[in-house]
Amino acid sequence: MTTALQATRLQDRLSSELTRLKDAGLFISPRVLEAPQRARTRILGREVVNLASNNYLGFADHPFVKERAAAYLHAWGAGAGAVRTIAGTLQIHEDFEAQLAAFKHTGSALVLQSGFTTNQGVLGSLLQDGDLVLSDELNHASIIDGLRLSKATKKVFKHKDLNDLRRLLQEHPTSGLKLVITDGVFSMDGDIAPLGEMVKVAREFGAVTYVDDAHGSGVLGEQGRGTVHHFGLQHAEDVIQVGTLSKAWGVVGGYAAGHQDLRELLINKARPFLFSTGHPPAVVGALSAAIELVQQDSSFIERLWDNTRYFKRELQTLGFDIFGSETPITPVIFGEAPAAFEASRLLLERGIFAVGLGFPTVPKGLARIRNIVTAEHTRDDLDTALSAYAEVGRQLGVIGG
Ligand SMILES: *Cc1c(COP(=O)(O)O)cnc(C)c1O
Repeated sequence: MTTALQATRLQDRLSSELTRLKDAGLFISPRVLEAPQRARTRILGREVVNLASNNYLGFADHPFVKERAAAYLHAWGAGAGAVRTIAGTLQIHEDFEAQLAAFKHTGSALVLQSGFTTNQGVLGSLLQDGDLVLSDELNHASIIDGLRLSKATKKVFKHKDLNDLRRLLQEHPTSGLKLVITDGVFSMDGDIAPLGEMVKVAREFGAVTYVDDAHGSGVLGEQGRGTVHHFGLQHAEDVIQVGTLSKAWGVVGGYAAGHQDLRELLINKARPFLFSTGHPPAVVGALSAAIELVQQDSSFIERLWDNTRYFKRELQTLGFDIFGSETPITPVIFGEAPAAFEASRLLLERGIFAVGLGFPTVPKGLARIRNIVTAEHTRDDLDTALSAYAEVGRQLGVIGG
């Protein structure tokens, strides 16, 4: 075959895939922030109130966090220089993992490159043929992909439905490991997993519970210790916690926290840990400062929750449906996808950055704008957003008045 023919085949593949995505309404072109990740930033040349980030505590551009990142950069260099298992484990990596384990009140913690790779690493290392996994239907894509790496039998239970979970546990007896997997906080609806009850059901059947706490870390539990702590389960030896350092902590990374043996197994078996370079020093510095900051100063989490309560209450007063959200993730339902995308566009015209989500990211008829309130928003930011919402909601006939 000639090179030209191969190039044509590649081009055909690229353009047919792109056309397919566009026809299905799934084509994405990311908005570009022209200023740092903050409560107010700049998009398309104008200042906007930012309700689209996961920067819950406002740490992504916080001076204390940035200073520590710079200090670690200068003291330890730009990169780790190797995968962690060969020559890339620096003292600062180990120190940060000890700090994280102490913060989370778990025996140990291991940090991986991201929350996504953490699910790949943990699920890929832990599960074997003959094991049974029960996974909430709204669990994150990285859990679904992580499970693809294992030969365990996989069953999906209805969202937060403990009767369905119990039914599946009854119908699929196994002598292997049984793992009940749930997000701590669900990223689209902002609701919290019923962890206390779920762990009880798991225990009835001798199953272990696995919580991906990406949206709960830094948000729920005393000082932001997470959903597992919120339910008082941090000392439970049959609960595995994973999460991200990329959302509330404002930087990047993932962690698994639990028994020392879990950490050792992951060091030996988790493929992202074994075959991909660890975090650069600046990331480690920024993360250590973020965990310190939230413990020194309780006002970040207080402001996060004050803002959350205020924004939710005012949206409901305006007549919007926020779909039972319990956390700073605040969906506003617009019905079908085109309405949500139109609302997002109209909000941006009014200086509000909030992203519309439709099928298949969320169910048909429940297209929405997902807002995430942060500690950094002022009352003025939120009031600006609320009056834009009122106008757009009336214009699209989603609220009366
Ligand atoms: C965002 C998210 C992840 C991915 O975390 P990253 O650190 O961004 O890779 C994993 N799990 C859940 C539940 C998430 O919401």
